[in-house]
Amino acid sequence: MKLTFWGTRGSIAVPGPDTLRHGGNTTCLCLEIEGQRPVVLDAGTGIRRLGLQMTEAPGPLDICLLMTHLHWDHLLGFLFFEPAYTTGASIAVGGWPRGMEGLRNIFDARRGDGNFPVTFGDLPARIQADEGLRPPRFRLGPVQVFTMGLNHPQGGIGFRFEQEGHALVFLTDNELHGPGPYGPDDYARFCQGADVLIHDAQYLPEEMDRRRGWGHSDWASVVDLAQRAGVGQLILTQHRRPGGRDRGPGPGQGRPRPAGAGGQGRPKPGDRRVAGQDANHLKPSSGAAFGAQGCLFRGGPDNLLSGRRQTQEV
Ligand SMILES: [Zn+2]
Repeated sequence: MKLTFWGTRGSIAVPGPDTLRHGGNTTCLCLEIEGQRPVVLDAGTGIRRLGLQMTEAPGPLDICLLMTHLHWDHLLGFLFFEPAYTTGASIAVGGWPRGMEGLRNIFDARRGDGNFPVTFGDLPARIQADEGLRPPRFRLGPVQVFTMGLNHPQGGIGFRFEQEGHALVFLTDNELHGPGPYGPDDYARFCQGADVLIHDAQYLPEEMDRRRGWGHSDWASVVDLAQRAGVGQLILTQHRRPGGRDRGPGPGQGRPRPAGAGGQGRPKPGDRRVAGQDANHLKPSSGAAFGAQGCLFRGGPDNLLSGRRQTQEV
């Protein structure tokens, strides 16, 4: 499996020099599984660049799109997803059961609402819901996919991808200690032993009292989850810094973090690992080592060490 981040920002796209460090596009990732069609996770604004790359590559466009939920920052990029406008392209939609409905509803419904000039039916690509890609579990070739509900307004799901004893978990827009049907113990079980955990960390711990119930987590709670679950590598995403520059180290800056067992080490209290810039690659190979161009924050964003992760393969 190889994972690429095409959008790492929460709530709204924020292009500009102040957000180059962690990327300005909203959530979109692409998971490549050997021998399988590409698996796109969410359709935030990051999907636009991904779509351009896909259409420029040779060969047929056969894509799987898994949605976590239907909030705008995970959905609206689909309006500008080039494969949807490509004759002969095929897009299978799965994940959140209302994913197909959400994608359809952002296009013009011929009601004269004026929101977008194209109707869903005008799209030349074949875009269909795939009932075989639904919770609670399904397969993507050799990869078994498990799902879990999110503590998030209007709901949503996260994914655990397992192959040959290795696991990658993607949980964004999730409030670990918030109101909702699931508790930290539930998420610890879902993430147990994962090689890589990618989790929402939209807020700082000191912001949480004012944001309780908004459906997002702070980085300290996520680090605690990663430790409890014995996660090998933690990557934080869904960044949000209204009105300010990205702070902290960018990929490639600072001092590399000492490698632990398996070359990666475990998260420690105060660590904050960030999904770096858009279009960074995370490549869990069939072996035990993983790599990502991430950052390590120790002691909070004003007291930083950083390291650039090199992609590793076994
Ligand atoms: Zn959301």
